Amino acid sequence: MKKSITSIFIAFLLFSSHSAFAAQKTVKWKLAMTWPSTLTPLASPANKVGKLVSAMTGGKFTIKADGKEKHKAALGILDMVKGGQYQMGHSGSYYWKGKDINTVWFTTVPFGMTQSEQYAWFYYGDGIKYMNQVYDKFGVLNFPGGNTGVQMGGWFKKEINSVADLKGLKMRIPGLAGEVMAKLGVNVTNIPAGELYTSLDRGAIDALEWVGPGMDIKMGFHKVAPFYYTGWHEPASEMQFMVNKKAFDKLPKEYQAILITAMKAVASDMYYENFAASANAWAKMKTDFPKIKVKTFPAPVVQAMKKATDDIFAKYAGENKLFKEIYDNQQAFMKKARAWSIMSQFHYIKTSEMVK
Ligand code: CA
Repeated sequence: MKKSITSIFIAFLLFSSHSAFAAQKTVKWKLAMTWPSTLTPLASPANKVGKLVSAMTGGKFTIKADGKEKHKAALGILDMVKGGQYQMGHSGSYYWKGKDINTVWFTTVPFGMTQSEQYAWFYYGDGIKYMNQVYDKFGVLNFPGGNTGVQMGGWFKKEINSVADLKGLKMRIPGLAGEVMAKLGVNVTNIPAGELYTSLDRGAIDALEWVGPGMDIKMGFHKVAPFYYTGWHEPASEMQFMVNKKAFDKLPKEYQAILITAMKAVASDMYYENFAASANAWAKMKTDFPKIKVKTFPAPVVQAMKKATDDIFAKYAGENKLFKEIYDNQQAFMKKARAWSIMSQFHYIKTSEMVK
């Protein structure tokens, strides 16, 4: 009897001291983001997550965010988080397609899901499961990190009336979409963000894609290229939070829960912030520059883009078993999700347009 009371007492002491320690433990983390720290809304989740975590832990757990201007390695984030120089990163999963093609599934793909469809796949389909599977080998945990919603197809100096108009066109368009455009004869180039406006203005390139009105307005593209095409290639670009797995495992359970909750909150917030920025920027652009023409690519061009996209997916699926599995999984989910999107959002908007 005496022994058992003693062991209960010791267990209680251990439990309470562990709890007290956990609640008061001071943890100082650093986060590296791909973007300059002022490039909102992309930089917003990284800037906000630390503030939220600190507020929820009484200042005990802090995360200092460094922008590209500090660490000078915009596309070195995955390696830095993997290596532990930074405990966290904020970037875009599709930047790592050279390391593993399956990272593209967690940003967006041409003709892929919309923001609401993709979040449903992440959280209530198999998206997060595949995310963990793909990132496991890097020793990092990956979490959704904010969505841009549908991105615009880009700014063009000349109207695109046929597939022939794309041949020889010089365009900045990265990722899988760049591969699609290259198949259609576009001369795809990659130019640093700081030189894009001048390149478009001086004719070094004929077209480019960036994000949408909220971010494009600051770049000034609308002043030099009058045709603004609607999107097809990045329907729901998701940013990512990366967390070094060993660092995460060392956190007290309370801090883990707080971090996960904070990441989800700031990721959702980026979508709202960008939506508002685009609504406001577009209202200003079309007033200040009434000659801007919003265009949708003609059906034969879209069909050629879709065919090229399917060919590229088939090529990767042939080379990579997991790519095929995720592709099939996403397509099956999207089929159901899209039927509901059409019935709900698409028809609601069409209906409300009838009585404008
Ligand atoms: Ca883009």
